[in-house]
Amino acid sequence: MNIAVVGTGYVGLVAGTCFAEMGNRVICCDANQEKIDALNKGIIPIYEPGLADLVKRNAEEKRLFFTTDLKRAVQESQIIFIAVGTPSKNGGDVDMSFVHGVARDIGRFLNDEKVVVDKSTVPVGTAHRVRDIIAKETKHKFHVVSNPEFMKEGAAIEDFMKPDRVVIGVDDDNAAETMKELYAPFVRTGNPVIVMDTRSAEMTKYAANAMLAARVTFMNEIANLCERLGADVDSVRVGIGSDRRIGPSFLFPGIGYGGSCFPKDVQGVLQMARDAKYDAKITRAVHDVNEAQKFILFSKVLAHFGKGKTSLQLVSQNAKASKKDKLEARPTLEGRRFAIWGLAFKPRTDDMREAPSLSIIRRLLEHGARVAAFDPEAMPNAKQAFGDALHCGHTPYDVLEDADALLVLTEWNEFRNPDFDRIKKLLKAPVIFDGRNLYSPARMKQEGFVYHSIGRPTVRK
Ligand code: NAD
Repeated sequence: MNIAVVGTGYVGLVAGTCFAEMGNRVICCDANQEKIDALNKGIIPIYEPGLADLVKRNAEEKRLFFTTDLKRAVQESQIIFIAVGTPSKNGGDVDMSFVHGVARDIGRFLNDEKVVVDKSTVPVGTAHRVRDIIAKETKHKFHVVSNPEFMKEGAAIEDFMKPDRVVIGVDDDNAAETMKELYAPFVRTGNPVIVMDTRSAEMTKYAANAMLAARVTFMNEIANLCERLGADVDSVRVGIGSDRRIGPSFLFPGIGYGGSCFPKDVQGVLQMARDAKYDAKITRAVHDVNEAQKFILFSKVLAHFGKGKTSLQLVSQNAKASKKDKLEARPTLEGRRFAIWGLAFKPRTDDMREAPSLSIIRRLLEHGARVAAFDPEAMPNAKQAFGDALHCGHTPYDVLEDADALLVLTEWNEFRNPDFDRIKKLLKAPVIFDGRNLYSPARMKQEGFVYHSIGRPTVRK
C-alpha cells in the first residue's frame, strides 16, 4: 500500500518505519525542515532502540521517504496518517491546532478517494471534526478513521510490530477492511484488531492512559502511607501483584509519572469531563497526587540537608497582589552540590517531556544548590532545558566527585549494579536518595550508606 504519515516524531517515525518494514511504500512528512534534512542524511532525531537500523534499511530499499512536501505525500498515498503532536495548552486543554491545520491541508490536496487516519491522541469527537474540516476543502470522497497508538517509548518498535491489540474506530465498512488489511501482518499471532465507532476508539486511548496513570499514582499513595506506618512497599507490591485480579505490572512506586502522554492525557480526560459538565473526581485526584509526588524526593533532600539553615526569600502570596509579598525564612541548600543519575522520564528513551527530573532539578537550583547529572541519552535535552545551570558528565561516576549526595531519578539498567565503593569514595558523604527503589535497603546498610527510597524504611548509619 502507499501510505503517508504526517508528523515524524516518536509515533510517526516509528509507525511509518514499521509500515515500510512490512513492504508498504511510506512517505513520512514533517513541517520541521531540519528534522527532514537530518532523516534524509540518515540521522535519527530521537533515541529509540532499534529504530536507526530499521530506518536505514527501509530508506536504502526505497520504501521509506522523508519530505516536507505534504501535497506530494497526500497525492501519492491511499492512506494518510495524522501523527502530529497534541500537547497540553496552559490550563490543560488539548492543543488541537496541529491536527486541525494538517486536516485542512489534506483536504486542500486531496486528488482521489482516500482514508485519513487520526493516529494522534485526540479528544472524543475529533474524527467528526476532522471530517468537517476536510469536507470544507474538497469535493473528493474520503473516510476518517480513528486509530489510536499504544506504543511505549523505549519499546516502541516491538510494541508496534507486535501490538497487544489494534483499535480501529470507523463509520464505514470499506475503510475498516482497508485498515484490517494494513494491520494484518502485525497481528499474525492472533492479537485482536478491535473495530468500533470513532468516538469509542478515541475514548479507549484516554481511558487506557488514565487507568495506567491512576494505577501508578495509587501505588505512590500506598508507598507514602507505608513510609508513615513503617511498612515496606516492596513487600506490599509483591503481595498484591500476585493476586490475578490485580497482576504485577505498573505497581512500582516512584517519583511520579511523566512523559509526553500520561500527564497530558490525564489533563485531556479532565478537559473532556469539564466540557461534558461532569466532575471527574478520580482523574483530578490522579493529577494532583502525581504533581505532589514529583517533589517527594526533593522534600527528603531538604529534610536531610536544609535543617537549621535558612535564607530570607521574597515570597509572593499572590502574583496580582504585590502588597502581600513578604520576606520569609526558607530552608536553603546554598553551597550544596548534588549528583543526579537519570534525566529521561523513563529508561531507554531521551524524552524529558514532563520528566520528574525537571521539577526536582528546578527546585534544587531554586534553593541554591549546584547540580551535576548523567543520563545515557537525555543529556542534550536536559542542556536545552537548563543550559549552563546544569553540569553534565561523561560517565555516571564523573558527576559524583564532591557531591553531598546522589539522587537516582531514572531506572536505567546501568545504574542497577554500580560500584558502591567508588560511589562512597567520590561523594563527600555516603548519602543516596533513590527515587526508583533500585537498591536493597539491606545492601545499603551493609555498604554504609544513608539511604532514602520510596515507601521503604530509611537506612541510617
Ligand atoms: P512529537 O512531538 O514527537 O512529534 C510530532 C511531530 O509533528 C513533530 O516532528 C512536528 O514537527 C510535527 N508537526 C507538527 N505540525 C506539523 C504539520 N503541520 N505538518 C507536519 N508535521 C507537523 O509527538 P509524538 O510523541 O510522536 O506524539 C504524536 C501524537 O501521538 C500525540 O498525539 C501523542 O499523544 C500520541 N502518542 C504518543 C506516544 C508516545 O509515546 N510519544 C504514544 C502514543 C500516542
